[in-house]
Amino acid sequence: MTTICQGDLIESVAGALQFISYYHPQDFIQALDKAYRKEANPAARDAMAQILINSRMCAEGHRPICQDTGIVTVKLKVGMHVRWEADMSVEDMVNEGVRRAYLNTGNLLRASILADPDGERRNTGDNTPAVIHYDIVPGDTVEVYVAAKGGGSEAKTKFAMLNPSDSVIDWVLKMVPQMGAGWCPPGILGIGIGGTAEKAMLLAKESLLDPIDIQDLQERGAANRAEALRLELYDAVNKLGIGAQGLGGLTTVLDVKVKDYPTHAANKAVAIIPNCAATRHTHFTLNGNGPAHQTPPKLADWPEIIREAGGNTRRVNLDLVTAEEVRTWQPGETLLLNGKMLTGRDAAHKKMVDILAKGGKLPVDLAGRFIYYVGPVDPVRDEVVGPAGPTTATRMDKFTRTMLEETGLQGMIGKAERGPMAIEAIRDNRAVYLMAVGGAAYLVAQAIKAARVVAFPELGMEAIYEFEVEEMPVTVAVDSRGESVHTTGPLIWKAKIEGGLV
Ligand code: SF4
Repeated sequence: MTTICQGDLIESVAGALQFISYYHPQDFIQALDKAYRKEANPAARDAMAQILINSRMCAEGHRPICQDTGIVTVKLKVGMHVRWEADMSVEDMVNEGVRRAYLNTGNLLRASILADPDGERRNTGDNTPAVIHYDIVPGDTVEVYVAAKGGGSEAKTKFAMLNPSDSVIDWVLKMVPQMGAGWCPPGILGIGIGGTAEKAMLLAKESLLDPIDIQDLQERGAANRAEALRLELYDAVNKLGIGAQGLGGLTTVLDVKVKDYPTHAANKAVAIIPNCAATRHTHFTLNGNGPAHQTPPKLADWPEIIREAGGNTRRVNLDLVTAEEVRTWQPGETLLLNGKMLTGRDAAHKKMVDILAKGGKLPVDLAGRFIYYVGPVDPVRDEVVGPAGPTTATRMDKFTRTMLEETGLQGMIGKAERGPMAIEAIRDNRAVYLMAVGGAAYLVAQAIKAARVVAFPELGMEAIYEFEVEEMPVTVAVDSRGESVHTTGPLIWKAKIEGGLV
């Protein structure tokens, strides 16, 4: 019988969450570096370079890889011969660990969890509660798996109850293009097959806790149906040409994980859950000898990457830019932004559109300006702002026409593609949409030289800030004629891959 102390679980969970906020798993870094070196599309290659450089900076600076520091998911395998020395429930202990990690003043993490999800959507303030799963297993230890899952990738989850004769491969290949780039590829697909609806989801999520090992599997060959599916889907998904950040390219997935489970004769439940550029997970074992400590990797484990300056880079002064100049920007062109921009994401857009619908005046003048879809991490020490990468732009699509037509907004900066509704509004208003790299939040934050809240301070990280930036790298993703690189890029690279041209 082993005795596990309350304080040990709390301290271990808090330490693990701090650790994964700034250290990517090494298998992820190695797989991404390999994909970066073989990538043929310069835009996708540059996106991967930014993610790798960001990763190294976060490891050095002990600051979060992404501004979205995730929803905490914990799985405990509790040995049947364990005794607890505790006056809290295991759930409360885990949540206390989460609270301590997210409120750590040395490396503040963003509180992203909202209570009353279909009502008031009130921030709980400390990123609790976690989503917790338990297995009761033979033994006298407690094994704990800790992950912090980004909302952008979780939002792209797919589920279907297929007919028993339906093809899982066909379904996955239909779903992945529909997922767009809001899950910040390249990443990992977790696929759960069988059981019941909720079991398939859990299998998909659990599969993402395994290390990246597709190369090993390719070498040794599949031993069962799940492994055969992994191999087939890894190749087939990468042949879709979606590429890093959806810009088109050779690598969309670094691995595909599949877990299956027996199911009812009438069912074939299938779930896909993607893991993003901010893949964050670790695990530890408590054996009664105190808290578990994570072993820091060596900086030498990160590749030395120097970004290559592209030929078609132009510097833009946001304080002076004119509508005529914006119309000369070409799809895929890299811009280095300088000057002042505003920020705003879901809650701020909803508030602004509601004010406009009532004939009210906005608290900030948007005419001729650019708005960056971001919810930054709070600063620590001498930072002006914490990690501040872009959030998924499609969530703002329904507000875009109103924002462009009623405020005179000139352009938007966000992550991944825009939907047809937003692209039409951009084209009709000769506006523009610029894309920053999701999963490179600390790198992006280095370009922000000043930050102040200018409206809706009650929204916390969703408040409207004014940022002053220097040389912030973005790509023209939808130009003023409505051409989208997220439509053209994957088509071009799919054709190149199919034609054997790369
Ligand atoms: S990398 Fe992308 S999907 Fe992942 S947490 Fe960051 S913004 Fe969200």
